[in-house]
Amino acid sequence: MGSIHLHEKKFNLYIKEKEILERVNQLAQAISKDYRGKNLILIGIMNGAVIFLSDLCRKIELPLSIASMKASSYQGMKSSGTVQIESLLNLDLKDKHLLLVEDIVDTGKTLFELKDYLFKAKPASIGIATLLFKPQAFEYNYHLNYVGFEIPNKFVVGYGLDFDELGRNLPDIYQLDTTY
Ligand code: 5GP
Repeated sequence: MGSIHLHEKKFNLYIKEKEILERVNQLAQAISKDYRGKNLILIGIMNGAVIFLSDLCRKIELPLSIASMKASSYQGMKSSGTVQIESLLNLDLKDKHLLLVEDIVDTGKTLFELKDYLFKAKPASIGIATLLFKPQAFEYNYHLNYVGFEIPNKFVVGYGLDFDELGRNLPDIYQLDTTY
């Protein structure tokens, strides 16, 4: 299917499921190599990262723990500017290697705030794995350790990403049709 409608907006097919899963496998292989012998905790940033986290973690060939946090700044298609953090962590993070798993890095504010928050728990390291990255929107200069795809500054849905809570279950990623 080439295009879909959500809340009366049109979205066009952008990255197919097969391509996403191939890239997720590559990221998992790199993570497996880099974190061998280390105490790894994957921290999924909910809700957007739920699909990416579940595909990624099953391809990482290491013992690891999984936790989640909730951060919200988007309402509809706009960032509200302030990031609300809800910690759902029930693990001791001290001296552990944390890998934040995010669906998309846009301005970078969400992960900046989350890193700042987690730093206080004295982990051994904090890394970032994001499926999508919009370099043109990024306002910070911290390093993104694992990036699935760099994309233009256009709104996308699917594979965990929503538009007002619709679209998360789409297996492919779709891009907003701004000509519609
Ligand atoms: P940032 O703090 O990096 O500006 O924004 C990160 C959050 O904004 C993401 O976790 C995601 O929830 C939301 N976001 C940013 N760009 C998009 C997009 O193109 N589509 C969707 N669905 N959410 C986005």
